[in-house]
Amino acid sequence: MTKLLVLACCLAALVLPGCASRQASATPSGSLNLSQMIVPAGKYGRRKEFPLRATHITIHSTANRNATALQHARGMASGAFRGRSKWNRTGYLTWHFTVDDVQAIQSLPLSIQGEHADHDGPGNRTSVAIEICEFRDSRRQAAAIERAARLTAYVMRQTGVPLDRVVPHYHWPQRHFHSYQKNCPRILLDGGKPGPRWEVFLRKVRSY
Ligand SMILES: [Zn+2]
Repeated sequence: MTKLLVLACCLAALVLPGCASRQASATPSGSLNLSQMIVPAGKYGRRKEFPLRATHITIHSTANRNATALQHARGMASGAFRGRSKWNRTGYLTWHFTVDDVQAIQSLPLSIQGEHADHDGPGNRTSVAIEICEFRDSRRQAAAIERAARLTAYVMRQTGVPLDRVVPHYHWPQRHFHSYQKNCPRILLDGGKPGPRWEVFLRKVRSY
């Protein structure tokens, strides 16, 4: 049923005018199932662009239960996610990859900063962002985390970022909000902080 829905959404993306192009892309492993739905150049979150030379990878989870990678990618490519904070530099929330239990989708080139971590802070200025989808079903959640680990290893190879610079969103204090450290990715933190679950995730990344 889920596969049928996803297929229907893919078909809609192909036939609807104005939708972002969807291209297959080469992956190091078929099981990563990575494709691209890049935000159109010059539109929405790319009307204003800031160049990125990534030194970190920031891991998030969507806090948007049961919404898929495809739904997030389509929303980002059509300007659905407005950034309402006055410190948001582009007026939109953007990030590089969304991953769920069946696929990973890239939305931004690796050479452009996203708006996902800390407004004009170092998190946005230095890191590639991966959003992991959240699911109530524990098996789907585990599969999404596994694929996220595989994707993180792939992005490390693409960018040269080492494992000790793979960080949770929590790592970047919110300078405009009294240096508050967000409980994100909440599905991989313990008590709002990196702990055993984060260590398990890093071990999975290392295994890929
Ligand atoms: Zn986050």
